[in-house]
Amino acid sequence: MSKVTFKPVVALVGRANVGKSTLFNRLTRSRAALVADFSGLTRDRHYGEGRMGDRPFLAVDTGGFEPVAKSGIVREMARQTAQAIAESDVVIFLVDARAGVNAHDHEIAALLRRSGQRVILAVNKAEGMRYDAAISEFHELGLGRPFAISSSHGDGVADLIEHALSFLDDAGQDESEAQHEGAADPRLEPGDEEPAQGNEGEDEIQHRIKLAIVGRPNVGKSTLINNLLGEERVIAFDMPGTTRDAIEIEFERGSHSYTLIDTAGLRRRGKVFEAVEKFSVIKTLQAIEACNVVVLMLDAQLEISDQDAHIAGFVLETGRALVVAINKWDGLDSEQRERIQREFDRKLRFLSFAKMHTISALNGQGVNALLKSVNAAHAAAFAKLSTPKLTRVLLAAVEQQPPPRKGIFRPKMRYAHQGGQNPPLIVIHGNALDAISDSYRRYLETRFRVEFKLDGTPLRIEFKSSH
Ligand code: GDP
Ligand code: GDP
Repeated sequence: MSKVTFKPVVALVGRANVGKSTLFNRLTRSRAALVADFSGLTRDRHYGEGRMGDRPFLAVDTGGFEPVAKSGIVREMARQTAQAIAESDVVIFLVDARAGVNAHDHEIAALLRRSGQRVILAVNKAEGMRYDAAISEFHELGLGRPFAISSSHGDGVADLIEHALSFLDDAGQDESEAQHEGAADPRLEPGDEEPAQGNEGEDEIQHRIKLAIVGRPNVGKSTLINNLLGEERVIAFDMPGTTRDAIEIEFERGSHSYTLIDTAGLRRRGKVFEAVEKFSVIKTLQAIEACNVVVLMLDAQLEISDQDAHIAGFVLETGRALVVAINKWDGLDSEQRERIQREFDRKLRFLSFAKMHTISALNGQGVNALLKSVNAAHAAAFAKLSTPKLTRVLLAAVEQQPPPRKGIFRPKMRYAHQGGQNPPLIVIHGNALDAISDSYRRYLETRFRVEFKLDGTPLRIEFKSSH
């Protein structure tokens, strides 16, 4: 049954200042023009969709590596790095061509060799150097042929990634490869012009909702899943064939069919499902990538953390539809309820497009309403927006409030059409559209949102100027 295959994960590892974040930014270069500037959105990203070449992947910047660290924040970073290495499909180990090999590099190399993971050695900052000279001293790390690259200039980076991903084709992909191709992201990338039908049949898009329930450890994900999957409702539960196949659970509720994409290795024990793995950021991100609608769970009894905000930021980046569930609402007094509401408004303001529900996964309170919003968010994400109506809404919005001039340029918008679904992409055609400001883009977004009732899904707007 497994139709969903997770994207491969590429982890960037290396000591401080070798250029990990520079490489990460190059690999995940966000389409800034497509994503409105949400105030409050966390910018501190360590996870991103890879945008190099035509094969999708997830990049993880492990931030730092102190294998000898004993305590505190540094130890926590080392733990997270170790987890990212263990969960990735391939590790890119960065070293610095200008600084040369040092003891720290040797420690990391030893650790990586012990991890048993596939490792590719990238010698960074090699721009302007002779290739052989750049890499020669790094052979001693014993990790195979080093790749000379320049993260800041881009030299060698495409080759490196192609090599890293081809690695995966040779290894472990076996018979599931055909499936992987078939299961390639059914959503259109923003910028594609075709109406999104992807690989799914029309019916499937209409009727089956791919859902991921995500959140920090102990927010109540398993409890909610058990509530949703009352035994009789589960119609299929398949174990994955390879590590990159998602675990999917199909269930019915009301008149809707759902496929739950699991983040934690659910196993059935007796009547209940149990998560057999501990919390994994990477599985969380893969599930977000693979689903249509995310339920982001927050714990009403705790403060909203950076981790919550990071997951939320990633949802926004991928463009998935979103519903927020604030769990453990039972047993809170009114003061506590007001606190969490205030905190939400302050820290997660950029999620204002999403419906928020207060629930108790334990006693089921609010769960039906939550699912209604999931259905609505899914419908919004796959809404069909006709060119005539889009154009009407656009021209009415422009008439009511024309875009300001920028210098000698006055943007002229002529018509709009839909360029994709999940998230809906609206492509606006006209002249001098580069001059349109973020705030005007937000104004248009609001108008489209209201007119087409697009609650629960991010919305992307792209401008195409003819000259
Ligand atoms: P990180 O600590 O490993 O994430 O390293 P950063 O990405 O923050 O980079 C550390 C420093 O190296 C910054 O000053 C970067 O501008 C610089 N840097 C990164 N990549 C390159 C490169 O390819 N060439 C050169 N010359 N400098 C680079
Ligand atoms: P997960 O790690 O996100 O899967 O969280 P679990 O579902 O394992 O729940 C963690 C703990 O929170 C367990 O002790 C649950 O019983 C408790 N819990 C889950 N949902 C609720 C809720 O709605 N109210 C209360 N009071 N506790 C809950």
